[in-house]
Amino acid sequence: MSMFRALVLVAAGAASALGAASALQKEYKSGIVWPEPVVVTPGKTDHEPPSDAVVLFDGKDLSKWNGGEKWEIKDGYAVVKGGDVTTKDSFGDYQLHVEFATPEVVRGSGQGRGNSGVFLANRYEVQVLDSFDNKTYFDGQCGSLYKQTPPMVNACRKPGEWQSYDILFTAPRFDEQSKEVKVLKPGFVTVIHNGVCVQNHFELQGGTYYDKPASYAKHPLKQPIRLQNHGDPVKYRNIWLREIKPLEGKKPQ
Ligand code: MG
Repeated sequence: MSMFRALVLVAAGAASALGAASALQKEYKSGIVWPEPVVVTPGKTDHEPPSDAVVLFDGKDLSKWNGGEKWEIKDGYAVVKGGDVTTKDSFGDYQLHVEFATPEVVRGSGQGRGNSGVFLANRYEVQVLDSFDNKTYFDGQCGSLYKQTPPMVNACRKPGEWQSYDILFTAPRFDEQSKEVKVLKPGFVTVIHNGVCVQNHFELQGGTYYDKPASYAKHPLKQPIRLQNHGDPVKYRNIWLREIKPLEGKKPQ
């Protein structure tokens, strides 16, 4: 018997001994009755929408956006022009995929270079900026929650190159009855920038403002998504989202 074959037999014996031991153990079951997770067919690449996604922009037109007629559409992308665009539909908690490219021809500096933004619930800005070799205040650079927190790392690609955001957004919950703004649960944001996690379940402090501290204003759970016009011809393509909801299991009586 070769040394190799002997080793294989020893290993097989050890594995069957483990199998016998686990057969004696009692399997733990929570008793919770879970609904079966729905089958979703993923896109062919991570950029393409899965089968249950709402496609907000497929490169052809911005008909799902108010203000979209002002933006320029060409070669499968849209260019920021003349104002913000806001989705006609509203969404609560979601996974949002957005691709963008800051201008190839670099003009300006700081906040004046490739500035745009993805406003979750129409008021919480995930900053879009050319932060490739372009310094600005850190909580205003690309991937920041504007004036609330910088990205953990700078994962920007070069100007003109396509970049992606995969954003997980949990909308804040407010006490509907209360006259004052009573936050029952703050909003949370996770941002993956070009495959790199730059925000991990960040707790929103409220709306993101240029000229005042963050603060919450009561709003309905479902709100539109807005893309910012900041005067720079930033490009967008492949925008889709999936509304997300945790499965609810039933505990037996
Ligand atoms: Mg901006």
